[in-house]
Amino acid sequence: MQKIVVVGGGYAGLGAIGALQKLQDAELVLIEPGSGHQLIPELPEALAKHGSIDNHVVPYDNLLAETQVKHIRHYVTNLNIDRHVVYLDNGEEISYDWLILAPGSEPSMPPIAGLRDVAHTLRDSHDARKIKSELQYAKEQRVAVIGGGLTGVEVAGMLSEDHDVILVEAFDRLLPALGLGLSQYAYRRLIAAGVHVVMGQKLVRVNPPRIELERDHYEYGILIWAGGISPPKWIRNTELPLDPQGYPVADAYGQVLPHIFVAGDLWHVVIDGQEIPATAQLAAIAGDFIGNTIVSRITTGTPGPEFRPRIRGMLISLDEGQGVGWVLHGGIPLRGFSARTLKNISFQQYRLKLSKIFDRPWPLLESGD
Ligand SMILES: Cc1cc2nc3c(=O)[nH]c(=O)nc-3n(C[C@H](O)[C@H](O)[C@H](O)COP(=O)(O)OP(=O)(O)OC[C@H]3O[C@@H](n4cnc5c(N)ncnc54)[C@H](O)[C@@H]3O)c2cc1C
Repeated sequence: MQKIVVVGGGYAGLGAIGALQKLQDAELVLIEPGSGHQLIPELPEALAKHGSIDNHVVPYDNLLAETQVKHIRHYVTNLNIDRHVVYLDNGEEISYDWLILAPGSEPSMPPIAGLRDVAHTLRDSHDARKIKSELQYAKEQRVAVIGGGLTGVEVAGMLSEDHDVILVEAFDRLLPALGLGLSQYAYRRLIAAGVHVVMGQKLVRVNPPRIELERDHYEYGILIWAGGISPPKWIRNTELPLDPQGYPVADAYGQVLPHIFVAGDLWHVVIDGQEIPATAQLAAIAGDFIGNTIVSRITTGTPGPEFRPRIRGMLISLDEGQGVGWVLHGGIPLRGFSARTLKNISFQQYRLKLSKIFDRPWPLLESGD
C-alpha cells in the first residue's frame, strides 16, 4: 500500500486529497496544524463590521469525516529526502512514499525600520482576529494599508465604510495583475469610497504613530502590511533545490525530486515564460492536478499531461457591494456589482465543490475554529 503525505490542508492540499480519493488502497495522511480549512480569500470580508471569522473556516472533522484520511495536527519543520520522512514540530517523524508540499506562503516583510514591531499581516483567521480586536469601526480611527495588490485593495475597500483608510502603493498603479483600465476603475472606486490612495511612494520607516514614506508622512491607528508573499522560511532549511526567491524548483508536473511534489502558493508556476499569480484558484487546480498525477503514476506508471492551468477569472472585492476583474479566461472585464456578485458566487461554488468532493452535507460550516 502506498503512503501519500500531504503537508497543508489549504486550497492545494485539499485539492490533492480530493483527487487522491480515487485510489482504492492508499494510505492518505494530512499534516496540518489547524482544526479547519481557512477560506483565506474571504477574510477581508470577515474584517467588515458585521463579518464573522468563524463563517470562513471549515472544520476538518466535518470535511474529512467520510474519508480514510488521517489528520495529524502538527507543523512540518523539515524533511529527510534520503530516508523519505518529514519531521514534525513535536520531534516525531512521518514516513512517506509520495509527498505533496502545500503549506502555502508567508507575508514577505522587507527590513523597513519599525515595520515588524507594529504591522499586522493578514494570512489566516488568527491574523484576522487580531486585526478585528483592534478595529473600532469608527471614522476617527485611521487604518493604514501598505500594498496595493489584491489583499491591500480588498482590505482597504472593506474597511472604508467604517474607518479613515489610507492605502499606500510603491508603484504608480494598483492591482498590477489586472489590465490598466480595470486598475484605474479600482482606483476611482476606492477614492469615491473615501480611501486616501497614495501611489508612487515607498514606505521607508514606521515611527509610531507615524508612517514615513519617501516624501510624505501620515499618522495611523492600525497598520496593515499587504506587501507580498514569500515561501515559508522552513523550506530554506530543507535540501530541496530552490530558486533565488526560495521556491522549490519544480518541473512541469510539479515534481521537485522523485516522489516529492509542490502545489499551491509554494509552486512558483511559470508557463511559456509567464508567471501565473498565486491565487486560491490556481492552488486548487494545482492540488487537483498533483493528486491526479500521483494517481496516474501509481495506477498506470505514466505521469499524465503537463500542468497547463486554465484560470477562469480574477475578481477583486472593492467593498461589500462592488468589485472589479475579469472572467472567461480574460475575455470579459467586469466592474461594479456584477464583479462583486460573481465573486460571491465563486466563493459558494468552491464550498459546493468541497461538499461534493468530500461527500458532506451543505452548507459545510456548522462550527468554526
Ligand atoms: C487577504 C487575502 C485575500 C486573498 N484573496 C484571494 C482571492 O480573492 N482569490 C484568490 O484566488 N486568491 C486569493 N488570495 C490568495 C489565496 O488565499 C492563496 O493563493 C491560497 O490560499 C493558496 O493556497 P495554498 O493551498 O497554497 O495555501 P493555504 O490556503 O494558505 O493553505 C496552507 C495550509 O498549510 C498549513 N501549513 C502551513 N505551514 C505548514 C507546515 N509547516 N506544516 C503543515 N501545515 C502547514 C496552513 O495551516 C494552511 O492550512 C488571497 C490571499 C490573502 C492573504
